[in-house]
Parts: sequence; structure tokens; C-alpha cells
Amino acid sequence: MKINANFLNLKDSYLFATVGRKTAEYKKAHPEKDVIRLSIGDVTRPLAPVVVEAMKRAAEEMGKSETFRGYGPDQTCYGYDKLLDSILGSYARKGVTLAKSELFISDGAKSDCGNILDIFSQDNVVLVPDPVYPVYVDTNVMGGRVIIYADATQENGFLPMPVKGTKADIIYICSPNNPTGAAYSREQLKEWVDYANEIGAVILYDAAYEFFVCDDALCRSIYEVEGAKDCAIEICSYSKTAGFTGVRCGYTVVPESLVREGVSLNKLWARRQSTKFNGVSYVTQMGAAAVFTEEGEKQIGENLAYYRKNAETIAHCLDELNLFYTGGKNSPYIWFKCPNGMSSWEFFDYLLENANVVGTPGSGFGKNGEGFFRLTAFGTHENTEEACRRIAALLKA
Ligand code: PLP
Repeated sequence: MKINANFLNLKDSYLFATVGRKTAEYKKAHPEKDVIRLSIGDVTRPLAPVVVEAMKRAAEEMGKSETFRGYGPDQTCYGYDKLLDSILGSYARKGVTLAKSELFISDGAKSDCGNILDIFSQDNVVLVPDPVYPVYVDTNVMGGRVIIYADATQENGFLPMPVKGTKADIIYICSPNNPTGAAYSREQLKEWVDYANEIGAVILYDAAYEFFVCDDALCRSIYEVEGAKDCAIEICSYSKTAGFTGVRCGYTVVPESLVREGVSLNKLWARRQSTKFNGVSYVTQMGAAAVFTEEGEKQIGENLAYYRKNAETIAHCLDELNLFYTGGKNSPYIWFKCPNGMSSWEFFDYLLENANVVGTPGSGFGKNGEGFFRLTAFGTHENTEEACRRIAALLKA
């Protein structure tokens, strides 16, 4: 018996564990202090009432023999029509036409970001931005693939562009980005799409934060860009859009026109899913189907407006302090340069000890994150305002 020795090449994921440990130690030593956490990537607003009602109704149906449902419909990879139709409607409003056969319902974006690699050879070279959502790197290390990095820096606004001559087979793009909050314009995405089509690469486009986009110059789906259906797989999630981090539902789009080596990637993914996955629960799917209805979008819009106000509060604070930052406008993340040349962890300690505010050190997301820091807009208004008041008072002093 041999283990998958690639797992031994994984770096310890100590970022959030260290943030948690340092915060707990500080709180233990200073129980009287009110520590505010703006480090979490989890949401705090509850599910929209329309989602809760839909899930209740679906649970009632499951309790009656006439309306009970077992395994989902396998001809659509276990997605129920009601959910598929609502997703297609949401794409149509972005000007994107898709077929039901191109949609795959999942239990969230994280699983599909990793699972999708099943359909690609281990020999592929993978291009990942740095800094990055760690899942892209770790899943490819597990698969033993060669990873090369696209440097995201202050100079390029944390939006690296294709470099001619770089040979990559799988390209990860996350826009709006975690951790930097930076989002590609339509023209910039077009450059990536043209590059991928030219070299025959596949883009894995993580659109987990698409609902935060409010600027018309930005895309909410890569399929708004001409040519993307020939090179891109889009991975989406209800987690941040509708507070489904604990409910678990997402969807992945694999266009029928995406063909490599004469093989349809849609057919490969359908085969993989029907072999290794048995779908998302009916109750969850009915809750998700309520999200992209008129009432659903209105209600989740209120939650998004709540987070956007927090992002504005943080951005305003950083403007006043004259610190460079990305994000905050089309994203729940704000990524800023640590003041006075401090390293990410130095600033973490400084902020915790002097303002009792917890954020996430940028260096935990890759080497280019050193000297940067991430705050999230997922807290409460009260905490966000108080944290900003403390940060401003500390850094102005
Ligand atoms: N993709 C990115 C970029 C994320 O930041 C996250 C969660 O933080 C996910 C995917 C995971 O989403 P899900 O909850 O749908 O698994």
C-alpha cells in the first residue's frame, strides 16, 4: 500500500489557526477588552425569509408520501428544474444564455474547485495568482501538478494579466478576488479569455463573490465576455450571495462548446459527477431556487447592502489614513498596505494589542501578500464602525 505522497508536499495551513490562537491568547490575558473580529470570511446575516419559507415548504413535502422525493433527477445531474430555471433566469439577466445541461448543482464552490481537477491530467501546468485563495494551490499539490504563479502586486492593482510566452494549461481566476477584493474589468477578462483560447488552456473562473459587483464596467459572469464559452468553467456559490455557508449549495457551469483533445469537458464532468456525487438535498435546492426570484433578489439585496455599507465604512477609514487598498467597492474584502512598512504579522499584533481589532495577515495568502492585510465587511455595522474608529485613532496618533 502506498499513500498519495503528494499530500506530504502540502504546507501546513496555519493562517486561520494562528489568527485564532493569537486572538484567544490575547483575550485570555485581557478578559476585560472588547476584541472585534474583522478576520472572518463567513457571513453574519441570516437567511432571507423567502428562502426559509421555501425550505419549510420543501420539508413538508418530504414528509408526505405523495410529494416525498428520493434521489434527484439524474438526467440533469440531480438538479431540480425549479432551481435550474431560476439560475438560467439569473444568467439571462446578465445577457448570458445557457442550457440546463450546462449547469451542475453542487454543495458549494470549494468542493467543485477541487473536484473539477478529476477531469484534467496530472501533467497539466497550473497558473495560480499570488496571493490566492489557498484551495487552488492545495488541491493541485494533492494532485501532484506543477504550479506556476502570476504575481498580483500593488503595481498591477493585484490584477495580474497574461504574460506572453507563459505556457499554462489550467488558469485560475477569482474575480472579485479573495483575498484582495480586486475585480477584473470586462476588457481585462477579455484578454485572459483570448489568451486561454490562443494557447488552448482552460480557465477555472471562481465567481463566488459575483453578487457584490455593482460597477457596470465589471462582469458578474465570465460568459459576458465573447469567447469564454470555448475556454472557461465558472464555479458559483450561494454562500456569500445568500448566506448559504451553512446550508451548502452552489453551481458549476461547463459549456457544451468547451472541448479539449476532441472531448467535451461537459460530458466528462457529467460522468464524474454521476459517479462520485449524488446531488444536493431537495430542501436545500428549493431554498436556493427562491434566491433568484424577484422577492429573493430583493431580500438578499438588503443583506448585500448591509455588507456594502460596512465595506464603505472601512474604505472611508483607509482613505482618511491615506493607505493604499484594493477591494471594498465590488467585494466584501478590503486589502490594504500595512502602515509604516510593517510586515503582515507585525501589523496583526500591533492592531490586536493596541486597537483590539483582528484582521487577516496578507502573507498567509502567498508571498506577494507580505506587508498587506485583509479586513472583511461581513461583521455587524456597530463592530465595523467601532473597529474603524479605533484603527483611525491608533494610526493617526
Ligand atoms: N471560492 C472563494 C474564492 C472563497 O473565498 C470561498 C469561501 O470563502 C469559496 C470559494 C467557498 O465557497 P463555498 O462556501 O461555496 O464552498
